Amino acid sequence: MTQAMHLILVIEDEPGIRAVLRVLLEAENYRVIEAGSAERGEIEARTHKPDLLLVDLGLPDDDGLALIRHVRAWSPVPVVVLSARTMESQKVAALDAGADDYVTKPFSAAELLARVRAGLRRASRGADSLPLLSLGETHIDLTRRVASGPGGAVHLTPLEYRVLDCLARQSGMIVTSRQLLREVWGPDRVGDSGALRVCVKGLRDKLERDPRRPQFLVTEAGIGYRLRPGDLDDE
Ligand code: CA
Repeated sequence: MTQAMHLILVIEDEPGIRAVLRVLLEAENYRVIEAGSAERGEIEARTHKPDLLLVDLGLPDDDGLALIRHVRAWSPVPVVVLSARTMESQKVAALDAGADDYVTKPFSAAELLARVRAGLRRASRGADSLPLLSLGETHIDLTRRVASGPGGAVHLTPLEYRVLDCLARQSGMIVTSRQLLREVWGPDRVGDSGALRVCVKGLRDKLERDPRRPQFLVTEAGIGYRLRPGDLDDE
């Protein structure tokens, strides 16, 4: 399937920003439909079944957060949130409500398009096919749970594999600490950020060339982590 097939729904109340987004996206051969309110957005989403939603968190009628919750109730469509710098807490709430990633306004075209590509890739990959992961010189088979680097076999613990697995399913996209804790440790451990930090440190020690300056397992301060495999085209 070519990129020309992809339909993107932009839900944003400011016509100027909608116009900019349309120009950017159409230049990449995406088709674009627009909505200026959350209510309209949900109608368009149901009617046109877009491949990806770009949702402004500051909408007039209903907030973008409620829209994301509604849409998540019936669709796994990738959702990328547009948020103002001042909306840090809503951003985390949006990710926890099921948004896949966010872009902070004012955004760069390159960043926005990278998030869109990562979202579409996540959707086309589906839930069950896991990629063989290459992080620099380390190659990881997430299904068989074996890893090897230049120095031979790399031993990862079951927890480390599960965290990596979770991040790899949304490769290139942010995963909140809460999501990681819920999926790997379970719903009663979502507050245990210490356990997650220890696990991430273990992964970095084994996978990163310089664990203090991670290239692959990147921290998104106050929100969570993002896996950036070197072979993706969105850097
Ligand atoms: Ca707005």
